[in-house]
Amino acid sequence: MLYSKLFGKTKKNSKQYDSINATLLIKGGFIDQVMAGTYTYLTLGLRVINKIEQIIREEMDTIGQEILMPALTPIVNWQHTGRFETVDVLMKTTPANIFAKAKNDTEYVLSPTHEEVVTPLAQKFILSYKDFPFALYQIQNKFRNEPRVKSGLLRGREFRMKDLYSFHTSEEDFKKYYEKSKEVYMQVFNRLGIGKDTVITLASGGSFTDDYSHEFQTICETGEDTIFYDKKTNTYYNKEVAPNQAPEIKYQDEKILPKKDVLGKGIIGVEELAKFLKIPVEKTTKTLIYETDKKEVVVAAVRGGYDINENKLRKVVGCKALKLTSPEIVKKVTGAEIGYAGLLNLPKNIKVFIDESVGNRHNFETGANKTHYHSINVNFGRDLPKPKKFYDIKVAKEGDSNPKTKEKYQVYRASEVGNIFPLYTKFTEAFNYHFVDQDGKEKPIYMGCYGIGSSRIMGIIIEKHHDNHGIIWPESVAPFQVHLIGLDMKDKNISSKVHQVYQVLKEKNIEVLFDDREEVSAGEKFADADLIGISVRLVVSIRTKEKVEYKRRGENKTSLMELKEVISNVKSQISNLHRKT
Ligand code: ATP
Ligand code: MG
Repeated sequence: MLYSKLFGKTKKNSKQYDSINATLLIKGGFIDQVMAGTYTYLTLGLRVINKIEQIIREEMDTIGQEILMPALTPIVNWQHTGRFETVDVLMKTTPANIFAKAKNDTEYVLSPTHEEVVTPLAQKFILSYKDFPFALYQIQNKFRNEPRVKSGLLRGREFRMKDLYSFHTSEEDFKKYYEKSKEVYMQVFNRLGIGKDTVITLASGGSFTDDYSHEFQTICETGEDTIFYDKKTNTYYNKEVAPNQAPEIKYQDEKILPKKDVLGKGIIGVEELAKFLKIPVEKTTKTLIYETDKKEVVVAAVRGGYDINENKLRKVVGCKALKLTSPEIVKKVTGAEIGYAGLLNLPKNIKVFIDESVGNRHNFETGANKTHYHSINVNFGRDLPKPKKFYDIKVAKEGDSNPKTKEKYQVYRASEVGNIFPLYTKFTEAFNYHFVDQDGKEKPIYMGCYGIGSSRIMGIIIEKHHDNHGIIWPESVAPFQVHLIGLDMKDKNISSKVHQVYQVLKEKNIEVLFDDREEVSAGEKFADADLIGISVRLVVSIRTKEKVEYKRRGENKTSLMELKEVISNVKSQISNLHRKT
Protein backbone atom coordinates (compact mmCIF):
# COMPACT_ATOMS: atom_id res chain seq x y z
CA MET A 1 0.00 0.00 0.00
CA LEU A 2 1.21 3.47 -0.87
CA TYR A 3 1.46 5.65 2.21
CA SER A 4 0.65 8.73 0.10
CA LYS A 5 -2.75 7.22 -0.59
CA LEU A 6 -3.44 5.80 2.87
CA PHE A 7 -6.55 7.18 4.53
CA GLY A 8 -5.65 8.14 8.09
CA LYS A 9 -2.05 9.24 8.32
CA THR A 10 0.03 9.98 11.40
CA LYS A 11 -1.02 13.10 13.29
CA LYS A 12 1.94 15.17 14.40
CA ASN A 13 0.09 17.32 16.87
CA SER A 14 -2.15 14.68 18.29
CA LYS A 15 -2.71 15.10 22.02
CA GLN A 16 -1.80 12.78 24.85
CA TYR A 17 -4.71 10.58 25.91
CA ASP A 18 -5.17 8.81 29.25
CA SER A 19 -3.21 5.80 28.09
CA ILE A 20 -0.28 4.92 25.89
CA ASN A 21 -2.35 2.76 23.59
CA ALA A 22 -4.88 5.53 22.89
CA THR A 23 -2.15 8.13 22.38
CA LEU A 24 -0.10 6.01 20.00
CA LEU A 25 -3.01 4.46 18.12
CA ILE A 26 -4.63 7.84 17.46
CA LYS A 27 -1.35 9.61 16.68
CA GLY A 28 -0.26 6.75 14.42
CA GLY A 29 -3.47 6.83 12.37
CA PHE A 30 -4.77 3.43 13.49
CA ILE A 31 -8.02 4.47 15.12
CA ASP A 32 -10.21 7.53 15.50
CA GLN A 33 -12.25 8.26 18.59
CA VAL A 34 -15.93 8.78 17.77
CA MET A 35 -16.89 9.34 21.40
CA ALA A 36 -15.57 8.08 24.70
CA GLY A 37 -15.48 4.29 24.45
CA THR A 38 -16.18 3.93 20.71
CA TYR A 39 -13.65 4.03 17.92
CA THR A 40 -13.38 3.79 14.16
CA TYR A 41 -10.68 1.39 13.04
CA LEU A 42 -8.88 3.10 10.15
CA THR A 43 -7.07 1.04 7.52
CA LEU A 44 -3.97 0.43 9.64
CA GLY A 45 -5.94 -0.37 12.79
CA LEU A 46 -8.33 -2.65 10.95
CA ARG A 47 -5.39 -4.64 9.57
CA VAL A 48 -4.07 -5.12 13.12
CA ILE A 49 -7.39 -6.16 14.68
CA ASN A 50 -8.01 -8.50 11.74
CA LYS A 51 -4.65 -10.18 12.30
CA ILE A 52 -5.29 -10.54 16.02
CA GLU A 53 -8.69 -12.05 15.33
CA GLN A 54 -7.34 -14.33 12.61
CA ILE A 55 -4.89 -15.83 15.11
CA ILE A 56 -7.70 -16.27 17.62
CA ARG A 57 -9.83 -17.84 14.88
CA GLU A 58 -7.13 -20.31 13.83
CA GLU A 59 -6.74 -21.52 17.39
CA MET A 60 -10.47 -21.61 18.15
CA ASP A 61 -11.07 -23.68 15.03
CA THR A 62 -9.20 -26.49 16.80
CA ILE A 63 -11.85 -26.62 19.54
CA GLY A 64 -15.01 -25.12 18.02
CA GLN A 65 -16.94 -23.92 14.98
CA GLU A 66 -17.35 -20.31 13.98
CA ILE A 67 -20.78 -18.75 13.58
CA LEU A 68 -22.00 -15.15 13.73
CA MET A 69 -24.90 -14.19 15.95
CA PRO A 70 -26.71 -10.83 15.86
CA ALA A 71 -25.78 -8.10 18.32
CA LEU A 72 -29.43 -6.99 18.41
CA THR A 73 -31.39 -9.56 20.40
CA PRO A 74 -34.94 -10.05 21.72
CA ILE A 75 -35.65 -8.85 25.24
CA VAL A 76 -37.69 -11.95 26.00
CA ASN A 77 -34.59 -14.17 25.94
CA TRP A 78 -33.06 -11.98 28.62
CA GLN A 79 -36.23 -12.10 30.67
CA HIS A 80 -36.12 -15.85 30.39
CA THR A 81 -32.77 -16.10 32.17
CA GLY A 82 -33.60 -13.30 34.59
CA ARG A 83 -30.66 -11.26 33.38
CA PHE A 84 -32.77 -8.46 31.91
CA GLU A 85 -33.21 -7.22 35.47
CA THR A 86 -29.74 -7.96 36.85
CA VAL A 87 -26.92 -7.42 34.33
CA ASP A 88 -25.57 -4.01 35.30
CA VAL A 89 -24.06 -3.20 31.90
CA LEU A 90 -27.01 -4.25 29.78
CA MET A 91 -28.03 -1.83 27.01
CA LYS A 92 -31.29 -1.76 25.10
CA THR A 93 -32.47 0.13 22.05
CA THR A 94 -35.64 2.16 21.76
CA PRO A 95 -37.08 3.89 18.69
CA ALA A 96 -35.43 7.31 18.59
CA ASN A 97 -38.36 9.51 17.56
CA ILE A 98 -42.12 9.52 17.06
CA PHE A 99 -41.80 8.48 13.43
CA ALA A 100 -39.60 5.50 14.28
CA LYS A 101 -41.90 4.65 17.16
CA ALA A 102 -44.91 4.76 14.88
CA LYS A 103 -43.26 2.23 12.56
CA ASN A 104 -41.99 -0.21 15.17
CA ASP A 105 -42.18 0.28 18.87
CA THR A 106 -40.19 -2.81 19.87
CA GLU A 107 -37.22 -2.55 22.16
CA TYR A 108 -34.18 -4.81 21.81
CA VAL A 109 -31.10 -5.73 23.79
CA LEU A 110 -27.65 -4.93 22.42
CA SER A 111 -25.77 -8.00 23.57
CA PRO A 112 -22.90 -7.76 26.04
CA THR A 113 -22.47 -11.58 25.78
CA HIS A 114 -24.44 -14.26 23.96
CA GLU A 115 -25.63 -17.06 26.23
CA GLU A 116 -29.17 -15.82 25.62
CA VAL A 117 -28.79 -16.39 21.88
CA VAL A 118 -26.50 -19.39 21.66
CA THR A 119 -28.42 -21.61 24.09
CA PRO A 120 -31.76 -21.47 22.24
CA LEU A 121 -29.80 -21.76 19.00
CA ALA A 122 -28.15 -25.00 20.08
CA GLN A 123 -31.51 -26.25 21.28
CA LYS A 124 -32.93 -25.89 17.77
CA PHE A 125 -30.32 -28.19 16.27
CA ILE A 126 -28.75 -30.57 18.75
CA LEU A 127 -30.65 -32.81 21.13
CA SER A 128 -29.20 -36.30 20.80
CA TYR A 129 -26.30 -37.54 22.92
CA LYS A 130 -24.61 -38.54 19.64
CA ASP A 131 -24.00 -34.93 18.71
CA PHE A 132 -22.25 -33.91 21.93
CA PRO A 133 -19.90 -32.33 22.81
CA PHE A 134 -19.86 -29.32 20.54
CA ALA A 135 -18.69 -25.73 20.77
CA LEU A 136 -19.71 -22.61 18.87
CA TYR A 137 -17.86 -19.35 18.74
CA GLN A 138 -18.03 -15.95 17.11
CA ILE A 139 -15.96 -12.81 16.86
CA GLN A 140 -18.10 -9.74 17.10
CA ASN A 141 -18.87 -6.32 18.53
CA LYS A 142 -20.18 -6.32 22.08
CA PHE A 143 -22.06 -3.55 23.86
CA ARG A 144 -21.73 -2.73 27.53
CA ASN A 145 -22.94 0.26 29.44
CA GLU A 146 -19.64 0.64 31.28
CA PRO A 147 -19.85 3.34 33.94
CA ARG A 148 -16.39 4.58 33.06
CA VAL A 149 -14.72 3.92 29.73
CA LYS A 150 -11.02 4.55 29.81
CA SER A 151 -7.57 3.69 28.58
CA GLY A 152 -8.33 3.66 24.86
CA LEU A 153 -9.12 0.17 23.66
CA LEU A 154 -8.82 -1.34 27.13
CA ARG A 155 -12.35 -0.45 28.17
CA GLY A 156 -14.94 0.54 25.60
CA ARG A 157 -18.74 0.65 25.39
CA GLU A 158 -18.63 -1.04 22.01
CA PHE A 159 -15.70 -3.41 21.69
CA ARG A 160 -14.56 -6.59 19.98
CA MET A 161 -14.74 -9.99 21.59
CA LYS A 162 -14.40 -13.64 20.69
CA ASP A 163 -16.92 -15.64 22.65
CA LEU A 164 -17.15 -19.39 22.60
CA TYR A 165 -19.75 -21.65 24.23
CA SER A 166 -19.29 -25.37 24.79
CA PHE A 167 -22.01 -27.95 25.44
CA HIS A 168 -21.53 -31.32 27.16
CA THR A 169 -23.50 -34.30 28.38
CA SER A 170 -21.56 -34.58 31.63
CA GLU A 171 -19.69 -32.42 34.10
CA GLU A 172 -16.65 -34.58 33.54
CA ASP A 173 -16.62 -34.01 29.82
CA PHE A 174 -17.11 -30.29 30.38
CA LYS A 175 -14.13 -30.18 32.75
CA LYS A 176 -11.88 -31.94 30.26
CA TYR A 177 -12.78 -29.43 27.60
CA TYR A 178 -12.31 -26.55 30.05
CA GLU A 179 -8.75 -27.68 30.80
CA LYS A 180 -8.00 -28.05 27.10
CA SER A 181 -9.27 -24.52 26.46
CA LYS A 182 -6.61 -23.16 28.84
CA GLU A 183 -3.88 -24.60 26.62
CA VAL A 184 -5.47 -23.22 23.48
CA TYR A 185 -5.81 -19.81 25.11
CA MET A 186 -2.15 -19.72 26.08
CA GLN A 187 -1.26 -20.62 22.51
CA VAL A 188 -3.29 -17.60 21.33
CA PHE A 189 -1.52 -15.26 23.73
CA ASN A 190 1.90 -16.65 22.79
CA ARG A 191 1.22 -16.00 19.15
CA LEU A 192 0.02 -12.48 19.95
CA GLY A 193 3.28 -11.66 21.70
CA ILE A 194 1.82 -11.35 25.22
CA GLY A 195 2.18 -14.98 26.30
CA LYS A 196 5.10 -14.60 28.64
CA ASP A 197 3.37 -11.83 30.60
CA THR A 198 -0.03 -13.52 30.72
CA VAL A 199 -0.96 -15.67 33.69
CA ILE A 200 -3.96 -17.83 34.51
CA THR A 201 -5.68 -16.31 37.52
CA LEU A 202 -8.40 -17.66 39.79
CA ALA A 203 -11.45 -15.41 39.75
CA SER A 204 -15.03 -15.43 40.93
CA GLY A 205 -17.25 -18.10 39.45
CA GLY A 206 -20.35 -15.96 39.83
CA SER A 207 -23.10 -16.05 42.37
CA PHE A 208 -24.43 -19.47 41.33
CA THR A 209 -21.35 -21.52 42.26
CA ASP A 210 -18.46 -21.73 44.71
CA ASP A 211 -16.14 -22.70 41.88
CA TYR A 212 -13.57 -20.35 40.48
CA SER A 213 -13.57 -19.07 36.94
CA HIS A 214 -10.22 -18.47 35.28
CA GLU A 215 -9.00 -15.18 33.94
CA PHE A 216 -6.06 -14.67 31.63
CA GLN A 217 -4.37 -11.64 33.09
CA THR A 218 -1.58 -9.82 31.29
CA ILE A 219 0.71 -8.23 33.84
CA CYS A 220 0.74 -4.58 32.95
CA GLU A 221 1.04 -1.31 34.92
CA THR A 222 -1.97 0.23 33.18
CA GLY A 223 -4.22 -2.76 33.85
CA GLU A 224 -7.33 -2.20 35.95
CA ASP A 225 -7.06 -5.45 37.88
CA THR A 226 -4.88 -6.39 40.83
CA ILE A 227 -3.67 -9.96 41.11
CA PHE A 228 -2.07 -11.73 44.05
CA TYR A 229 0.62 -14.32 43.46
CA ASP A 230 1.38 -17.06 45.98
CA LYS A 231 4.83 -18.31 45.11
CA LYS A 232 4.55 -21.40 47.29
CA THR A 233 1.69 -22.86 45.30
CA ASN A 234 2.40 -20.94 42.09
CA THR A 235 -1.14 -19.59 42.10
CA TYR A 236 -2.47 -16.23 40.97
CA TYR A 237 -5.68 -14.93 42.51
CA ASN A 238 -7.75 -11.98 41.38
CA LYS A 239 -7.99 -9.47 44.22
CA GLU A 240 -11.73 -10.18 44.31
CA VAL A 241 -11.18 -13.74 45.50
CA ALA A 242 -7.70 -13.83 47.06
CA PRO A 243 -7.92 -15.53 50.46
CA ASN A 244 -5.94 -13.29 52.76
CA GLN A 245 -4.55 -12.85 56.20
CA ALA A 246 -3.65 -9.40 57.49
CA PRO A 247 -0.14 -8.79 58.85
CA GLU A 248 -0.07 -9.30 62.57
CA ILE A 249 0.14 -6.14 64.64
CA LYS A 250 2.59 -6.03 67.49
CA TYR A 251 3.02 -3.12 69.83
CA GLN A 252 5.83 -3.45 72.32
CA ASP A 253 4.88 -3.93 75.99
CA GLU A 254 1.29 -3.04 75.37
CA LYS A 255 -0.66 -2.80 78.62
CA ILE A 256 -4.38 -3.50 78.69
CA LEU A 257 -6.08 -0.15 79.23
CA PRO A 258 -9.52 0.68 80.62
CA LYS A 259 -12.22 0.94 77.97
CA LYS A 260 -13.47 4.44 77.28
CA ASP A 261 -16.27 5.98 75.20
CA VAL A 262 -15.09 9.05 73.33
CA LEU A 263 -17.40 11.70 71.91
CA GLY A 264 -16.59 12.13 68.24
CA LYS A 265 -19.62 13.63 66.60
CA GLY A 266 -19.67 13.34 62.79
CA ILE A 267 -16.31 11.60 62.71
CA ILE A 268 -17.06 8.63 60.56
CA GLY A 269 -14.41 7.32 58.13
CA VAL A 270 -11.69 5.20 59.77
CA GLU A 271 -8.88 7.50 58.54
CA GLU A 272 -10.53 10.56 60.02
CA LEU A 273 -11.38 8.70 63.18
CA ALA A 274 -7.83 7.40 63.67
CA LYS A 275 -6.50 10.93 63.32
CA PHE A 276 -9.05 12.25 65.76
CA LEU A 277 -8.37 9.54 68.33
CA LYS A 278 -4.60 9.72 67.72
CA ILE A 279 -4.37 5.98 67.12
CA PRO A 280 -3.09 4.02 64.11
CA VAL A 281 -5.75 3.17 61.52
CA GLU A 282 -5.18 -0.54 62.15
CA LYS A 283 -6.50 -0.08 65.66
CA THR A 284 -9.86 1.04 64.34
CA THR A 285 -12.65 -1.33 63.29
CA LYS A 286 -15.06 -1.01 60.41
CA THR A 287 -18.45 -2.51 61.24
CA LEU A 288 -21.16 -2.72 58.60
CA ILE A 289 -24.69 -4.03 58.76
CA TYR A 290 -26.01 -6.05 55.84
CA GLU A 291 -29.29 -7.51 54.81
CA THR A 292 -29.46 -10.80 52.86
CA ASP A 293 -31.83 -11.79 50.05
CA LYS A 294 -33.87 -13.55 52.77
CA LYS A 295 -34.03 -10.29 54.74
CA GLU A 296 -31.78 -11.59 57.49
CA VAL A 297 -29.67 -8.86 59.08
CA VAL A 298 -26.01 -9.66 59.68
CA VAL A 299 -23.10 -7.69 61.08
CA ALA A 300 -19.65 -7.81 59.48
CA ALA A 301 -16.45 -6.27 60.80
CA VAL A 302 -12.92 -5.80 59.47
CA ARG A 303 -9.84 -4.01 60.77
CA GLY A 304 -9.59 -0.32 59.76
CA GLY A 305 -7.74 0.03 56.46
CA TYR A 306 -9.54 -2.98 54.98
CA ASP A 307 -12.76 -3.21 53.01
CA ILE A 308 -15.36 -5.90 53.33
CA ASN A 309 -15.35 -8.33 50.39
CA GLU A 310 -19.06 -8.83 49.87
CA ASN A 311 -18.48 -11.92 47.79
CA LYS A 312 -16.59 -13.62 50.61
CA LEU A 313 -19.14 -12.41 53.11
CA ARG A 314 -21.97 -13.78 51.01
CA LYS A 315 -20.29 -17.18 51.01
CA VAL A 316 -19.71 -17.36 54.76
CA VAL A 317 -23.20 -16.10 55.47
CA GLY A 318 -24.49 -18.70 53.00
CA CYS A 319 -26.89 -16.45 51.11
CA LYS A 320 -27.46 -15.68 47.43
CA ALA A 321 -27.18 -11.90 47.66
CA LEU A 322 -26.65 -9.19 50.24
CA LYS A 323 -26.61 -5.44 50.45
CA LEU A 324 -25.96 -2.79 53.08
CA THR A 325 -29.09 -2.32 55.10
CA SER A 326 -31.11 0.86 55.64
CA PRO A 327 -30.30 3.52 58.29
CA GLU A 328 -33.54 2.54 60.06
CA ILE A 329 -32.44 -1.06 60.48
CA VAL A 330 -28.96 0.05 61.56
CA LYS A 331 -30.61 2.12 64.24
CA LYS A 332 -32.80 -0.80 65.30
CA VAL A 333 -29.85 -3.17 65.53
CA THR A 334 -27.25 -0.90 67.10
CA GLY A 335 -29.39 1.71 68.78
CA ALA A 336 -27.31 4.37 67.04
CA GLU A 337 -27.31 6.47 63.87
CA ILE A 338 -25.26 5.18 60.95
CA GLY A 339 -21.51 5.70 61.46
CA TYR A 340 -21.31 4.59 65.09
CA ALA A 341 -21.94 0.88 64.62
CA GLY A 342 -19.59 -1.40 66.51
CA LEU A 343 -19.24 -4.81 68.06
CA LEU A 344 -20.30 -3.99 71.63
CA ASN A 345 -23.65 -5.02 73.07
CA LEU A 346 -25.23 -6.20 69.84
CA PRO A 347 -28.56 -8.02 70.12
CA LYS A 348 -27.99 -11.71 70.80
CA ASN A 349 -30.06 -12.94 67.86
CA ILE A 350 -27.95 -11.13 65.23
CA LYS A 351 -25.21 -13.10 63.49
CA VAL A 352 -21.85 -11.38 63.65
CA PHE A 353 -19.02 -12.17 61.24
CA ILE A 354 -15.69 -10.85 62.43
CA ASP A 355 -12.69 -10.89 60.13
CA GLU A 356 -9.47 -12.41 61.41
CA SER A 357 -7.80 -8.99 61.07
CA VAL A 358 -9.97 -7.73 63.94
CA GLY A 359 -8.56 -10.35 66.29
CA ASN A 360 -4.95 -10.35 67.49
CA ARG A 361 -5.27 -6.78 68.67
CA HIS A 362 -5.38 -5.13 72.06
CA ASN A 363 -6.90 -1.83 73.02
CA PHE A 364 -8.69 -1.38 69.72
CA GLU A 365 -11.42 0.99 68.69
CA THR A 366 -14.94 0.04 67.67
CA GLY A 367 -18.12 2.05 67.22
CA ALA A 368 -19.88 2.45 70.59
CA ASN A 369 -23.36 1.69 69.18
CA LYS A 370 -24.26 5.03 70.75
CA THR A 371 -24.80 8.00 68.46
CA HIS A 372 -21.66 10.22 68.26
CA TYR A 373 -19.56 7.85 70.39
CA HIS A 374 -16.58 5.59 69.67
CA SER A 375 -15.23 3.08 72.17
CA ILE A 376 -11.48 2.81 72.58
CA ASN A 377 -9.22 0.36 74.41
CA VAL A 378 -11.65 -2.43 73.67
CA ASN A 379 -10.37 -5.94 74.35
CA PHE A 380 -11.75 -9.36 73.54
CA GLY A 381 -12.46 -11.43 76.65
CA ARG A 382 -13.07 -8.38 78.78
CA ASP A 383 -15.42 -6.04 76.84
CA LEU A 384 -16.85 -8.56 74.44
CA PRO A 385 -16.53 -12.32 74.18
CA LYS A 386 -13.85 -13.63 71.87
CA PRO A 387 -15.74 -15.13 68.89
CA LYS A 388 -15.54 -18.90 68.44
CA LYS A 389 -14.44 -18.33 64.91
CA PHE A 390 -12.87 -15.51 62.94
CA TYR A 391 -13.56 -15.33 59.20
CA ASP A 392 -11.86 -14.09 56.07
CA ILE A 393 -14.30 -11.53 54.69
CA LYS A 394 -11.99 -8.73 53.60
CA VAL A 395 -10.56 -7.50 50.33
CA ALA A 396 -6.90 -8.48 50.00
CA LYS A 397 -4.24 -5.80 49.94
CA GLU A 398 -0.51 -5.54 49.55
CA GLY A 399 1.29 -6.94 52.58
CA ASP A 400 -1.23 -9.74 53.17
CA SER A 401 -0.43 -13.45 53.15
CA ASN A 402 -2.21 -16.52 51.96
CA PRO A 403 -3.76 -17.94 55.17
CA LYS A 404 -3.18 -21.52 54.00
CA THR A 405 0.46 -21.31 52.95
CA LYS A 406 1.43 -18.28 55.07
CA GLU A 407 3.25 -17.02 51.99
CA LYS A 408 3.25 -13.25 51.58
CA TYR A 409 1.64 -12.37 48.27
CA GLN A 410 3.43 -10.69 45.42
CA VAL A 411 1.01 -8.14 44.01
CA TYR A 412 0.76 -7.09 40.35
CA ARG A 413 -1.37 -4.80 38.23
CA ALA A 414 -2.83 -6.67 35.28
CA SER A 415 -5.39 -6.49 32.50
CA GLU A 416 -7.86 -9.27 31.81
CA VAL A 417 -7.42 -10.35 28.20
CA GLY A 418 -9.54 -13.47 28.45
CA ASN A 419 -11.88 -15.30 30.77
CA ILE A 420 -13.19 -18.86 30.88
CA PHE A 421 -16.23 -19.58 32.96
CA PRO A 422 -18.05 -22.76 34.06
CA LEU A 423 -21.76 -22.20 33.53
CA TYR A 424 -22.85 -25.77 34.33
CA THR A 425 -26.60 -25.99 33.75
CA LYS A 426 -27.49 -22.37 34.58
CA PHE A 427 -28.48 -21.42 31.02
CA THR A 428 -29.52 -24.80 29.66
CA GLU A 429 -31.96 -25.16 32.55
CA ALA A 430 -33.25 -21.62 32.03
CA PHE A 431 -34.17 -22.54 28.45
CA ASN A 432 -35.26 -26.03 29.45
CA TYR A 433 -32.63 -27.44 27.10
CA HIS A 434 -31.93 -31.14 27.73
CA PHE A 435 -30.47 -33.92 25.65
CA VAL A 436 -31.85 -37.36 25.02
CA ASP A 437 -29.45 -40.03 26.22
CA GLN A 438 -28.88 -43.55 24.93
CA ASP A 439 -31.52 -44.80 27.32
CA GLY A 440 -34.07 -42.43 25.81
CA LYS A 441 -34.15 -40.23 28.92
CA GLU A 442 -33.80 -36.45 29.03
CA LYS A 443 -30.72 -35.29 30.91
CA PRO A 444 -29.04 -31.98 31.80
CA ILE A 445 -26.57 -30.24 29.51
CA TYR A 446 -23.39 -28.69 30.93
CA MET A 447 -22.06 -25.50 29.46
CA GLY A 448 -18.97 -23.32 29.59
CA CYS A 449 -18.27 -19.90 28.13
CA TYR A 450 -14.92 -18.63 26.98
CA GLY A 451 -14.14 -15.00 26.09
CA ILE A 452 -11.18 -13.19 24.60
CA GLY A 453 -11.17 -9.40 24.33
CA SER A 454 -9.60 -8.89 20.92
CA SER A 455 -9.76 -5.09 20.90
CA ARG A 456 -8.52 -4.87 24.49
CA ILE A 457 -5.62 -7.09 23.43
CA MET A 458 -4.75 -4.65 20.64
CA GLY A 459 -4.38 -1.99 23.34
CA ILE A 460 -2.50 -4.27 25.72
CA ILE A 461 0.01 -5.24 23.04
CA ILE A 462 0.92 -1.57 22.76
CA GLU A 463 1.04 -1.05 26.52
CA LYS A 464 3.58 -3.90 26.56
CA HIS A 465 5.45 -3.16 23.34
CA HIS A 466 6.42 0.46 22.74
CA ASP A 467 9.23 2.95 23.30
CA ASN A 468 9.51 6.74 23.31
CA HIS A 469 9.17 6.83 19.54
CA GLY A 470 6.10 4.70 19.12
CA ILE A 471 4.68 1.23 18.80
CA ILE A 472 6.77 -1.93 18.41
CA TRP A 473 4.30 -4.48 17.01
CA PRO A 474 5.02 -8.18 17.39
CA GLU A 475 5.44 -9.41 13.80
CA SER A 476 2.34 -11.54 14.05
CA VAL A 477 0.00 -8.54 14.30
CA ALA A 478 1.88 -5.66 12.63
CA PRO A 479 -0.34 -3.98 10.03
CA PHE A 480 2.22 -4.74 7.32
CA GLN A 481 5.25 -6.99 7.26
CA VAL A 482 7.56 -4.36 5.82
CA HIS A 483 7.71 -0.57 5.98
CA LEU A 484 9.56 0.56 2.86
CA ILE A 485 10.88 4.11 2.85
CA GLY A 486 12.00 5.82 -0.30
CA LEU A 487 14.31 8.78 0.21
CA ASP A 488 15.56 11.24 -2.43
CA MET A 489 12.36 10.42 -4.29
CA LYS A 490 12.68 13.48 -6.51
CA ASP A 491 15.57 11.73 -8.20
CA LYS A 492 13.94 9.80 -11.06
CA ASN A 493 16.43 6.91 -10.79
CA ILE A 494 15.94 6.44 -7.10
CA SER A 495 12.22 6.77 -7.39
CA SER A 496 12.03 4.08 -10.04
CA LYS A 497 14.35 1.85 -8.05
CA VAL A 498 12.19 2.08 -4.91
CA HIS A 499 9.03 1.44 -6.89
CA GLN A 500 10.74 -1.60 -8.33
CA VAL A 501 11.66 -2.89 -4.87
CA TYR A 502 8.02 -2.33 -3.87
CA GLN A 503 6.81 -4.34 -6.87
CA VAL A 504 9.19 -7.22 -6.21
CA LEU A 505 8.19 -7.44 -2.54
CA LYS A 506 4.52 -7.43 -3.47
CA GLU A 507 5.06 -10.14 -6.05
CA LYS A 508 6.65 -12.22 -3.32
CA ASN A 509 3.42 -11.79 -1.32
CA ILE A 510 5.04 -9.62 1.28
CA GLU A 511 2.75 -6.99 2.80
CA VAL A 512 4.40 -3.63 2.25
CA LEU A 513 3.57 -0.14 3.43
CA PHE A 514 5.54 2.05 1.04
CA ASP A 515 6.26 5.61 2.10
CA ASP A 516 6.41 7.09 -1.38
CA ARG A 517 5.86 10.71 -0.36
CA GLU A 518 8.11 13.17 -2.23
CA GLU A 519 7.68 16.28 -0.13
CA VAL A 520 8.41 14.72 3.22
CA SER A 521 11.85 14.80 4.87
CA ALA A 522 13.85 11.70 5.77
CA GLY A 523 13.57 12.56 9.45
CA GLU A 524 9.81 12.75 9.28
CA LYS A 525 9.56 9.45 7.42
CA PHE A 526 11.75 7.71 9.98
CA ALA A 527 9.72 9.17 12.82
CA ASP A 528 6.51 7.96 11.19
CA ALA A 529 7.97 4.48 10.71
CA ASP A 530 8.95 4.35 14.37
CA LEU A 531 5.51 5.56 15.43
CA ILE A 532 3.67 3.04 13.22
CA GLY A 533 5.92 0.30 14.52
CA ILE A 534 6.14 -2.24 11.68
CA SER A 535 8.76 -4.87 12.48
CA VAL A 536 11.00 -4.44 9.42
CA ARG A 537 12.03 -1.07 7.99
CA LEU A 538 13.67 -0.92 4.57
CA VAL A 539 15.24 2.22 3.15
CA VAL A 540 16.22 2.87 -0.45
CA SER A 541 18.12 6.10 -1.11
CA ILE A 542 21.07 7.52 -3.04
CA ARG A 543 23.31 6.16 -0.29
CA THR A 544 22.05 2.56 -0.39
CA LYS A 545 23.19 2.19 -4.03
CA GLU A 546 22.25 -1.26 -5.35
CA LYS A 547 21.33 -2.52 -1.92
CA VAL A 548 18.56 -1.94 0.59
CA GLU A 549 19.00 -0.78 4.18
CA TYR A 550 17.37 -3.20 6.62
CA LYS A 551 16.46 -2.37 10.20
CA ARG A 552 14.25 -3.99 12.75
CA ARG A 553 11.93 -1.81 14.85
CA GLY A 554 13.21 -1.71 18.40
CA GLU A 555 16.83 -2.28 17.38
CA ASN A 556 19.39 0.35 16.42
CA LYS A 557 21.49 -1.70 14.07
CA THR A 558 21.01 -1.16 10.33
CA SER A 559 22.55 -3.34 7.64
CA LEU A 560 22.84 -3.09 3.89
CA MET A 561 21.49 -6.14 2.15
CA GLU A 562 20.74 -7.46 -1.29
CA LEU A 563 17.01 -7.43 -1.93
CA LYS A 564 17.14 -11.23 -2.23
CA GLU A 565 18.50 -11.52 1.27
CA VAL A 566 15.83 -9.15 2.61
CA ILE A 567 13.14 -11.27 1.01
CA SER A 568 14.45 -14.51 2.43
CA ASN A 569 14.77 -12.90 5.86
CA VAL A 570 11.22 -11.60 5.84
CA LYS A 571 9.87 -14.87 4.42
CA SER A 572 11.49 -16.93 7.13
CA GLN A 573 10.11 -14.61 9.82
CA ILE A 574 6.65 -14.96 8.34
CA SER A 575 6.83 -18.73 8.23
CA ASN A 576 7.57 -18.75 11.96
CA LEU A 577 4.26 -17.02 12.61
CA HIS A 578 2.05 -19.81 11.33
CA ARG A 579 0.03 -21.98 13.62
CA LYS A 580 2.09 -24.67 15.27
CA THR A 581 0.43 -28.06 14.98
P1 ATP B 1 -13.87 -6.75 33.07
O1 ATP B 1 -13.76 -7.46 34.38
O2 ATP B 1 -12.58 -6.23 32.55
O3 ATP B 1 -14.98 -5.76 33.00
P2 ATP B 1 -15.45 -8.92 32.21
O4 ATP B 1 -15.04 -9.95 33.18
O5 ATP B 1 -16.74 -8.24 32.39
O6 ATP B 1 -14.28 -7.86 32.02
P3 ATP B 1 -15.97 -10.90 30.18
O7 ATP B 1 -17.44 -10.85 30.21
O8 ATP B 1 -15.26 -12.04 30.77
O9 ATP B 1 -15.39 -9.53 30.73
O10 ATP B 1 -15.53 -10.66 28.66
C1 ATP B 1 -14.49 -11.36 27.99
C2 ATP B 1 -13.35 -10.43 27.66
O11 ATP B 1 -13.78 -9.26 26.98
C3 ATP B 1 -12.62 -9.90 28.87
O12 ATP B 1 -11.70 -10.84 29.33
C4 ATP B 1 -11.95 -8.66 28.33
O13 ATP B 1 -10.74 -9.00 27.70
C5 ATP B 1 -12.93 -8.17 27.27
N1 ATP B 1 -13.72 -7.02 27.74
C6 ATP B 1 -14.70 -7.02 28.69
N2 ATP B 1 -15.23 -5.80 28.83
C7 ATP B 1 -14.59 -4.99 27.95
C8 ATP B 1 -14.70 -3.62 27.61
N3 ATP B 1 -15.60 -2.83 28.19
N4 ATP B 1 -13.87 -3.13 26.65
C9 ATP B 1 -12.97 -3.93 26.02
N5 ATP B 1 -12.82 -5.23 26.30
C10 ATP B 1 -13.62 -5.77 27.24
MG1 MG C 1 -14.18 -11.50 33.08
